[in-house]
Amino acid sequence: MVSFFKTPIEFLKGVGPQKGSLLNKELSIFTYADLLQHYPFRYEDRTKFYKVRDLHQEMSNVQIKGQIRSKQLVGMGRKQRLVVQFADDTGTVELVWFKGINWISPKLKSGIDYVVFGQPTRFGSKFNIAHPEIEVLTPVSAQQEFLQPIYSTTELLRRKFLDSRAIFKFQKILLQEAYNRIPETLPQHIIQQYSFLAKKDAVVQIHVPKNQQLLQKARFRMKFDEFFFMQLRLLMQKKIRLEKFKGQVLQKTDLLTEFYKSHLPFDLTGAQKKVIKEIFADFKSGKQMNRLLQGDVGSGKTIVAFIASLIAIDSGTQLALMAPTQILANQHYEGLKEFADKIGVSIALLTGSTKTKARRVIHEDLKSGQLKILVGTHALLEEVVQFQNLGLAIVDEQHRYGVAQRARLWKKNENFVPHVLIMTATPIPRTLSMSVYGDLDISIIDELPAGRKEIKTIHQYDANRLKLNGFIKKEIEKGRQVYVVYPLIEESEKLDLKDLMDGYESIARAFPEFPISIVHGKMKAADKDFEMARFVKGETKIMVATTVIEVGVNVPNASVMVIENAERFGLAQLHQLRGRVGRGAEQSYCVLVSSYKLSKEARTRLDTMVRTTDGFEIAQVDMNLRGPGDMMGTQQSGQLDLMIGDLREDEPILSIARQSAQTVISKDPDLESEENRLIKIQVEQQQKKNVNWSRIS
Ligand code: ADP
Ligand code: MG
Repeated sequence: MVSFFKTPIEFLKGVGPQKGSLLNKELSIFTYADLLQHYPFRYEDRTKFYKVRDLHQEMSNVQIKGQIRSKQLVGMGRKQRLVVQFADDTGTVELVWFKGINWISPKLKSGIDYVVFGQPTRFGSKFNIAHPEIEVLTPVSAQQEFLQPIYSTTELLRRKFLDSRAIFKFQKILLQEAYNRIPETLPQHIIQQYSFLAKKDAVVQIHVPKNQQLLQKARFRMKFDEFFFMQLRLLMQKKIRLEKFKGQVLQKTDLLTEFYKSHLPFDLTGAQKKVIKEIFADFKSGKQMNRLLQGDVGSGKTIVAFIASLIAIDSGTQLALMAPTQILANQHYEGLKEFADKIGVSIALLTGSTKTKARRVIHEDLKSGQLKILVGTHALLEEVVQFQNLGLAIVDEQHRYGVAQRARLWKKNENFVPHVLIMTATPIPRTLSMSVYGDLDISIIDELPAGRKEIKTIHQYDANRLKLNGFIKKEIEKGRQVYVVYPLIEESEKLDLKDLMDGYESIARAFPEFPISIVHGKMKAADKDFEMARFVKGETKIMVATTVIEVGVNVPNASVMVIENAERFGLAQLHQLRGRVGRGAEQSYCVLVSSYKLSKEARTRLDTMVRTTDGFEIAQVDMNLRGPGDMMGTQQSGQLDLMIGDLREDEPILSIARQSAQTVISKDPDLESEENRLIKIQVEQQQKKNVNWSRIS
């Protein structure tokens, strides 16, 4: 027997084949279950009436009681509109219709009390409401007490009268039949612990909320469910992995002690020490490490990676560090080499552009075990790259690697799966790391090295260029260097290049006395390197560049970062760019230059940059603006397909759900006890749906 919930939607009373097929196509609603899980995305409070006097600009939809004072057709032809003066005892608003005038106009009569519902917009001293809902005030509507659910639909559906109200009607019809069949998914002990509504009641209250309080309870229950099973899945993956893979025990520390004694260039921060301890504990445990290392730009991840490698090397194994781009691989190589050279550990770089001969040497030295550290791009994954004994794999991922690629790294050691440390260059919000990396252990470097001066960030409009130039001049005369960065957006590369060239010329005109470098993506690699080198040596004072410098440059003497057309950059990019300065002892500055015309989002981005330098805070704002899926890129967005949970606002619920899942797993690892029977059923059902169940790392 086909389960009730799998019944095709066309069989629901009032739907039928035509509407059914529209729902399939437009909203991917195929079955009863799909409809029930098409949750409202907001609710309109129809419990409250506003007075015209109390309207203000920031209101969303409001409900007003009143009467029609006058009605008038304004304009001609396609510009024609119906304007109605609607008044209560405190004032008048204008109701405006652009469409359906012939249909609505005859229904609007004076001398009758109406209820109007819509979003007020200010026009001069008056408010108007375009295309409001309007109905005659009846004793029932006067004391309505309900929250009207609003469902997402599409333009096409609305044209076919499948609007939010129609969907609401279908939900009510379906719930009649479905209510008693909705199975409970959580065991009694959890339901009691959090005083949850029963699942079936939660589903009803989500669609037809009786009042605000029950709605909140229902949403809490449904969100918890979703997060709980997501976390349970991640934690079970982790458990399976730990059971399946033994880790090489790495615990010799002679090299490390020598490094600490003679070569450590600075005192480690408390956060760095904490993270090193966490990694070392994993190394000693006999279990395979799978750890995510998060730390803001400049927080000192390189030294942590190096110290971990020293322990691995001392125990007779090798390190591979893989980065998503050549520039990044280069940067890591330079960073690690500085330490490796000091203590005499061999290190090499392998990328797409490594010459055949050098490549061959690397392959041999890896195989023999002479080469200890190999840094590179995905060139590392090729079959010919074989290690004698790969002990630690570090992946700088910036969200760019797929699971399959990571898995190939795992196979580089036949006897033991290497320990894995994943580094992210930009912080990601807690809810995101719990969802995307929930099966990993997480280490966070949440402290910058001492003595750093906070970078001062200023937002400046184009028009103030003279003032800005004066400031740049003063800084250079103090001996500093300056970056000026232009955006590069693929679609309009030509325009961007023109922007860059125009910018370069005007800078050259403004500062005839200073040598200037220019670097952009269309230059030959050798020319790029040459220009970079001149800037690094201090021969040029200003570096005009596209975002190629976002990663990979470290010039401590550069203390000013000017970002042109800053409104066109995303937050993560702005934060990365700003991280290029503030690396020396001097006070550093970041100047965001934009036009006066800014979208609301762009303004939020710029304001955020001015307000804070905290990467985690910036990441949070970024997620709120863009949504979690966009932020992580397509690679991981599948895991972020949530029906009702929202990573932007549900951190408290997610945390509780994770904790709860952890408790269940630690008490009953295989979900065998009777009290967890419902959980087990649910997990098994999810497994059937989820193809990529055995995802690793
Ligand atoms: P990121 O986390 O961005 O990779 P890096 O490892 O490149 O940061 O470190 C940024 C800069 O800070 C480097 O110049 C590094 O030498 C320096 N640094 C790292 N840790 C410390 C510390 N504990 N004290 C002082 N300087 C440090
Ligand atoms: Mg780094």
